[in-house]
Amino acid sequence: MDSYLKTSTILYVEDDDEVRIGYSKALSRLAKTLYTANDGEEGLRLFNEYSPDIVITDLKMPYKCGIEMSREMRQINPQQVILFTTAYTEPHYTIQALDLQVNGYLLKPVDKKQLEEKINQFSKNIFWEKHNHEQQLMLQQILNHQSNITILTDLTTIKFASHSFWNMLFVKNKEAFFEIYPSFLDVFITHEHYIYGNTPDEFLNRYFESDADMRLVSIIGENGPTAFFISLDKIKDTKEELFVITLTDISSIQTSRLDALHRASHDRLTKIYNRSAFEKALEHEFLRTKRYGRPLCMALLDIDRFKLVNDSFGHLIGDEILILFAREIQIILRKTDTFARWGGEEFVILMSETHIQDAYKVCETVRKHIEKLMHPIAGNITLSIGVTAITPNDTPQSTFTRCDKALYTAKSNGRNRVELL
Ligand code: GH3
Ligand code: MG
Ligand code: MG
Repeated sequence: MDSYLKTSTILYVEDDDEVRIGYSKALSRLAKTLYTANDGEEGLRLFNEYSPDIVITDLKMPYKCGIEMSREMRQINPQQVILFTTAYTEPHYTIQALDLQVNGYLLKPVDKKQLEEKINQFSKNIFWEKHNHEQQLMLQQILNHQSNITILTDLTTIKFASHSFWNMLFVKNKEAFFEIYPSFLDVFITHEHYIYGNTPDEFLNRYFESDADMRLVSIIGENGPTAFFISLDKIKDTKEELFVITLTDISSIQTSRLDALHRASHDRLTKIYNRSAFEKALEHEFLRTKRYGRPLCMALLDIDRFKLVNDSFGHLIGDEILILFAREIQIILRKTDTFARWGGEEFVILMSETHIQDAYKVCETVRKHIEKLMHPIAGNITLSIGVTAITPNDTPQSTFTRCDKALYTAKSNGRNRVELL
């Protein structure tokens, strides 16, 4: 048998001096620390002061008897380990002692071998309880530091959960959780799009049948139903079947995915589409034109003498004008038009379902609107625009070449003009 002796603190309460001194000697060899008291009052005082792991007490004592003292101790700590030593066989004491459900009896005169065994047994339990408690605290701290929700469960009960789990459900702890949900799996909403189960097997089947990136559960949280990605790992080498479940709030992932998508398709300065997004839209619209012969026009817009703006007022003012133009042009255009920053001080517009006469009119409206704008520092800045209709025989390259030519004509014809080709 492993020895857990000298791992527990013991309080020994005995009014008979001779007996107390005799057993104290033996007990001090078995205890980490031994406290002794000669009546119930003193026993209680030492108990409150030192919270001993084990209390060994005589029953009949002056001032406060062992039963009364023990009852008070149990009120303070319901799990307190208490052993009675007694020479009495009076039914009155025995019945009261039974009521208290103490952890054991040692009949006087106490056999030292038996005493050692008992102390070792209790010390062992106390040692492992303390050890488990410390591990639980450590685990809890680790879990609380994670941004995901982590739960250790057998899919019926919960061994641990990070605080975020309780917080989301507005419950204080495990006990409060099970007042609402009969079983752990009841927290998941039953819905065909999500993983759920009335039994652990049913739940596990649904889990393993789903693709890893489609494993979602839904839980009613503080903001109504919330979807989570769920990942489940079986813990090896435990007697029970235990799983670590990690829940990741899908809304935070979706937000960052959307952010990344937005960054990939938008210009950082003007916040309108970038060249790559435009090229995708162009490809798409090209197909429609080729297949169904739908009218499609493209316009290239280039700020006039923009280098001069930068040189005279600085790059920041130049940037302001780019932002201002992008915003103003966007307002004029239709929702079905694709407007993008082509690069530098050039913009591009793709006008679907638009014939060249109408495209020209749109460009004129844009040009006139920009012409009227007055920047507080740079004053009036104008645009030149080249516009062209796309034919089924065109390629993106041939369209650009023609559009660019039209723009060049607008520049050479004096700027602040729209030319079509
Ligand atoms: P033109 O009327 O012939 O188009 O003359 P321009 O000066 O506009 O043409 P040029 O191509 O010589 O100059 C374009 C200028 O646009 C030069 C470049 O510094 C400026 N530019 C390009 N991108 C940006 C930008 O993001 N911010 C600022 N402030 N300036 C830019
Ligand atoms: Mg240019
Ligand atoms: Mg220019």
